[in-house]
Amino acid sequence: MEASMHAMMVMMQPGTSRTDIEEIRSQALDAALDADVIVGNGQSIIVVTGALDPGFVELLHTLAGVEEVVHRGNSLPPDTSDLRVESIRPLLPPAVLLEDLPLTHAGAVSVSRSREDIVRILSGEDDRLIVVVGPCSIHDPAAALDYGRKLKTLSDELTPDLCIVMRAYFEKPRTTVGWKGLINDPHLDNSFAVNDGLQMTRALLLELIALGLPVGCEFLDPILPQFFADLVTWGAIGARTTESQVHRHLASGLSMPVGFKNGTGGSVQIAIDGVRAAASPHSFLGVTEQGIAAVVSTRGNPDCHVILRGSSTGPNYGERHVRQTLEMLRDCALPAHVMIDTSHGNSGKDFRQQPIAAGEVGSQVAAGEAGIVGFLMESFLEDGAQELRPGQNLVYGQSITDGCMGWEMTVPVLHRLAEVVRARRSGAAASASVRNGATRHSGAHKA
Ligand code: PEP
Ligand code: MN
Repeated sequence: MEASMHAMMVMMQPGTSRTDIEEIRSQALDAALDADVIVGNGQSIIVVTGALDPGFVELLHTLAGVEEVVHRGNSLPPDTSDLRVESIRPLLPPAVLLEDLPLTHAGAVSVSRSREDIVRILSGEDDRLIVVVGPCSIHDPAAALDYGRKLKTLSDELTPDLCIVMRAYFEKPRTTVGWKGLINDPHLDNSFAVNDGLQMTRALLLELIALGLPVGCEFLDPILPQFFADLVTWGAIGARTTESQVHRHLASGLSMPVGFKNGTGGSVQIAIDGVRAAASPHSFLGVTEQGIAAVVSTRGNPDCHVILRGSSTGPNYGERHVRQTLEMLRDCALPAHVMIDTSHGNSGKDFRQQPIAAGEVGSQVAAGEAGIVGFLMESFLEDGAQELRPGQNLVYGQSITDGCMGWEMTVPVLHRLAEVVRARRSGAAASASVRNGATRHSGAHKA
């Protein structure tokens, strides 16, 4: 690497023979160094450059004709930073993207209203279920928009019972390595055109909002919210980052409700701790809209909740797990509500298990469990997932990360969730009537 280059001058005794000078030059070349001979007025100097080994410097002192080796004080010190950095490229300032792709007045009204809807469901004022549903990751904005149009139509139909948010994830945490999402590598070819990825992300989110569909995103990188968080109705902190202080701080300053996943190993406590930490004010480092590093002081986010996503040891959506989680939340004086992720550890990574998980949790809702406030589901146009292979065409509308329910599989699941909300509502209305001294059969109205 050029940064570790050193230079030194080998001063030869006056009158040193050409053979002795050539010997030094050839020793330098053997050590993969460059050597240039400068013949002066009676004294020759050999300038040696390259990655110098201390052993070579010692050897020079033993060679015939060498008067002095000048290298201390005029050689470059070894580099100690950026040794493993291949390149650093400019990132556009958030303000540029926000100016190019602004949120319209109508869009801002829909984002605000949908955030309020979620907050009302979390507080129990609204008895619907939040359903965050969409692909594990977005890799093709056109297919995502197609999906969004279908979801919007279904959402309009089910809106009395479900508050549907499109899952629109652009940042993918990986267990080890792999494609890290549309922002990181929008052209799916390891070109890492992050500025293009940000532009595509914001443009798609604006189109989804213009359809009248609220969007939910995972936040992974602490700088990126400045580029698109103004468009997001609901946010998630993933299983791999729930315990991270950086992400808890970030959530404390986000403008929307945020779900914290239990850890990949199954710990629900770390998600509860995340919710508690995010509710407090914090000061930490971030960037301004102009892209300048800054100290950010937040007010705390009171609208956070736990998401049960199962773990490597199995699902955690059963009645026992749900009750235990609600109990743990009460013990910490936190609101007792939870969202269930039907995918990931709760489906053993098999998308076909998601309707089963939704059905079982739905039965808990129908039986009156008010602590279940929502669902997170992985769904796209086509069933399953495909592998991203360089140069190979992709199936339209199929996930390139986790397997998803296809649209046909998704529709009845959402209808069923609307039904269980109605069942819970009528059960609640019936018990309210009993408490008020009326008969059980006085009718079921919206609680
Ligand atoms: C995801 O939602 O796609 C995801 C990666 O989830 P988790 O953080 O629960 O693994
Ligand atoms: Mn996933």
